[in-house]
Amino acid sequence: MKNETPILQDLHGRHHGYLRISLIERCNLRCSYCMPEEGVQLSPKSHLMTYEEIYQIAKIFVKHGVTKIRLTGGEPLVRKDIPVILEKLATLPVELSITSNAVIIDRFIDVLKVNGVNKINLSLDSLNREKFKHITRRDQFDIVYKNMLLLVEEGFKVKVNVVLMKGFNENEIIDFINLTKNLPIVVRFIEFMPFDGNKWDMGKMVSYAEVMTYVNASFTEENIQRLQDAPNDTSKNYKISGYKGSFAVISSVTNPFCDSCNRLRLTANGQLKNCLFSSAESDLLTTLRLGNAIEPIIQKAVQAKFKVRGGMDTLKKLQEPKLHNNNRSMITIGG
Ligand code: SAM
Repeated sequence: MKNETPILQDLHGRHHGYLRISLIERCNLRCSYCMPEEGVQLSPKSHLMTYEEIYQIAKIFVKHGVTKIRLTGGEPLVRKDIPVILEKLATLPVELSITSNAVIIDRFIDVLKVNGVNKINLSLDSLNREKFKHITRRDQFDIVYKNMLLLVEEGFKVKVNVVLMKGFNENEIIDFINLTKNLPIVVRFIEFMPFDGNKWDMGKMVSYAEVMTYVNASFTEENIQRLQDAPNDTSKNYKISGYKGSFAVISSVTNPFCDSCNRLRLTANGQLKNCLFSSAESDLLTTLRLGNAIEPIIQKAVQAKFKVRGGMDTLKKLQEPKLHNNNRSMITIGG
């Protein structure tokens, strides 16, 4: 029997079966928590993975045990060859999903369906048009909201990502939960995380505990149901009794879920990141282009993965700008 080294297993016993691939660094929104106001230095086009390279790399990960691939960005749908990418990846034995801001997703309903993509995570940080415009620096609230409803109507499983920021949208927590009354969606509140240029500080973050304080003040204890989290789930899941949808909190900052982390990230320019919080990157694309095997690099990167939050294992370390500021902006990592 072939004795293959489990290259996706790290030194803490975690198997990595989930690969998030960023397709593009560009985006049609300019969310302030995701990218610096002045924009980011984009990689030259020749440094980005082509669709063939994305497929080749994905195939290698699948061979070694990846069963889930999520496409992200930037905004993955602004990549011109997205239909071909979906078509190629759909031939692999994986669950394929996508994270999008939903601004143009109405144009891709058929292509998503044909390629078996039925789980969509979309970003929506405010239910107020002016506030949406302020945070995204683009006036696209109406279309995003309409597209969220369209996706639900078309039968997609929709999760709505809400990055919470103090003084900006924490007063909308209950409005978002009320959306789940009649819509079978999962609203996920995300703790604001530090990345290069997003002016993060702990004081701007709304924690899991604070979210639950709002929830407990608005609903009775017997109406708040704690749901069973799926294995490797990053979120703590809840439901209000009788509501069609549910809500969750992703507490990457105050309550990280590193023990069960099964994720690896591939940036649009072909760099492997073993953790969202880590600034370390391993160049798969150059090696692939030279015609050499990328497995040894993958294995080394996986084995270098820290046990907790890219080595920032205490909140004190996370708050040190010199530690978290070395990391790329989220827009060029792919959340
Ligand atoms: N353009 C797509 C979108 O808007 O969903 C995909 C890329 S976006 C970088 C992926 C996710 O990262 C979004 O849900 C976004 O809210 C999240 N994100 C970006 N910056 C973040 C931050 N500083 N803290 C927490 N989540 C963040």
